[in-house]
This record gives sequence, C-alpha cells and structure tokens, in this order.
Amino acid sequence: MTPLEERLIARIRATGPITIADFMTDCLLDPDHGYYTTRDPLGASGDFTTSPEVSQMFGELMGLSLAQAWMDRGTPERILLAELGPGRGTLMADVLRATSGVPGFHAALDLHLIEASPTLRARQTETIRHPLTHHDRIEDLPDGRPLFVIANEFFDALPIRQFQRTETAWRERVVGLTGDQLAFGLSGPVAALPLRLGDTKPGEIVETSPASNAIAATLGARIAEDGGVALIIDYGDWRSRGDTFQAVANHEPVDPLAEPGNADLTAHVDFEALAQAASPAAASAMTPQGVFLERLGITPRAEALARNLTGPALESHIAAHRRLTHPKEMGTLFKVLALYQPGTPPPPGVDPQ
Ligand code: SAH
Repeated sequence: MTPLEERLIARIRATGPITIADFMTDCLLDPDHGYYTTRDPLGASGDFTTSPEVSQMFGELMGLSLAQAWMDRGTPERILLAELGPGRGTLMADVLRATSGVPGFHAALDLHLIEASPTLRARQTETIRHPLTHHDRIEDLPDGRPLFVIANEFFDALPIRQFQRTETAWRERVVGLTGDQLAFGLSGPVAALPLRLGDTKPGEIVETSPASNAIAATLGARIAEDGGVALIIDYGDWRSRGDTFQAVANHEPVDPLAEPGNADLTAHVDFEALAQAASPAAASAMTPQGVFLERLGITPRAEALARNLTGPALESHIAAHRRLTHPKEMGTLFKVLALYQPGTPPPPGVDPQ
C-alpha cells in the first residue's frame, strides 16, 4: 500500500467518501507523495510521452504560430509569453529556438511558467536557458500586457468530477471504501447539470472540471482585456460524454484506484466548456492536431530535417512525423483550441468558429 493510499483510507474512514476531483488533487499534487511533485514522468523511460517529446517539429510550429500571431497584432513591444504545465521544458525550448530569427520577438517577451511540481520546475530552468519566472497559479501572472499562452497536455491533468444520470437527476461518482479498499461509489441525488438532461440517457456519465473552467475564465478575461492568444492542445472532444477518467503507468493503462501517487491520472478535455468559460475572449473552431500541424507546414519541415538523416535516425524521424499527425495516432484524438481577442484574427493553424 502506498503512503498516500493509507492517508486517503484514513481520511475517508473519518469523514466519508471524497469526489474524484479531491482524489486526483491528492494523487497528482500532494506535496510529499503526489505523482507530479515527486518525479519527472515523461519520456520513454517514464510513464507517458507527449508531442514535444516525440519531435522538435511540434514546438517549432507552435513557435511560428505564436510569432505570426504577434506580428498580426502589430508586434507589440512588451508581451508575456506563458506556458501552463511545461513538463520538461522541451516545448518552450523548441518555441524559443524556432523564433530566435523573428526580429524583435525575443526582445519583446517576458517568459512566465505556471508549474506546480518543484521537480519539473528545476528541469524546466535547466532546459529552457532563457530568463524565466515560475508561478503556482495563473492569477499570479502580471497583467497589463498582451498575453501569449501555450498549454499542451495541461488541462487533462486538472481534477474532474463525474456525474451519473438517473431518470431525472444526477448522482456524483465518489471514491469511498469497500472493506479496507478504495472503491468507486455514488452519492445521493445532487442538483447539477440540468442542461445535460437534454442530451443524455439514464446511466450515462458526464464529467466537469471546475478547475479547468476557472483557468480558462482567467485566461479569457486577460486576453479579452490585454490582447494576445492562447493555444490549448489536448486529447478530448467538444462536449463531455462518458467516463474518460484514466490512469497510466509505464505506458500502460492501470486501475486509477490501484496505486495512488504512482500513476498518472487524467481525463479527456471538454473543449466546449473551456470555450464557454473563456468568454468574452473569442474561441476558435476546435481543430484536430494533425490538421493544425499540416496547415503550419509540418510536411515540408519534416522533409527538410530528413535530408540530414540516415538509418535509424531517419526511420525514427519518419515515425515521429506520423505519430504527431496520423488519424490513428495523435492526429485526431488531440485537438487544438485557440483563444484570442474579439476583433483580431485567430493564430495561424486554426479557423474562427
Ligand atoms: N506540457 C508538457 C507536460 C505535460 S504533463 C508536455 O507537453 O510535455 C502536465 C504538466 O502540468 C506537468 O508539468 C505537471 O507538473 C503540470 N501540472 C499538473 N497539474 C498542475 C497544476 N494544477 N498547476 C500547475 N501545473 C500543473
């Protein structure tokens, strides 16, 4: 039994079942035993691999989209460039390298990273090699300047709540005890999600992420007021449907309740909820990652890089291109949503809604 599991069991015994959001928060971010706080989970030797870890092309193209968005806004002299949940810092390092030739862009930006994990903060500072400031929360970002934000696989790590429909109402899915073991259960009827009675059937599960919506609201308010864009990339869909709560360890799915603190816990992102929460900022159409990267020129970029490669390096480069864009790999499951100031164009790669 993990130390965190013992604590969760004692807590539930004392005060009753907890929401999935509370369970996720403890498992991912407990200061002593949390999954992200205690380790670097990324890469082939870790538990999962993300797009920037698959190929440098991902960050390069994100960088070009951001730099073009900056030019489309008349090259403002002072901006904030911020990343939410930067992991190892690979994406931001690639963004900065790809944009180093854009006249004035680096001189205009102040770099800010939102990161909860001390382990990953240290790794980011090492990888990025550019002056930067870390913050715990998005509200801590300085305001008054256009805000350019990237977030890849950040929102999927934020806590969700799950509701299961009865005929006329909803019950919340909770984590309680069966004997001495953590087990899923259901609360009594709760007043929630009245609008979702219209497009669901009894027994169906719908997920919400109050923490994600709060962050989208802050981002949206800032971008509507000060200008800028946000590029949000994650797995998910336009509207939450069904149980997507999942745990991964060593690149394999595992039971989310099995080893609290030792597995990555995520859920699919509800892009409709993010877009609505971000109002009054404009939200783009939700665009599949493969389409987004093709529009930004991933194929010519892949060909240019391929010219200098042979043998296994060439093979893995070709596999990486396919992995990022192919519908059966990350091309369709992953989506891009951009937020931007009403009256300005969306960043390159996505369409207005
Ligand atoms: N964007 C990176 C890493 C994704 S993993 C990549 O694409 O490779 C999720 C990241 O979000 C990690 O850096 C994790 O520590 C951070 N994170 C998770 N929950 C967070 C929270 N509530 N506040 C700030 N950072 C968080």
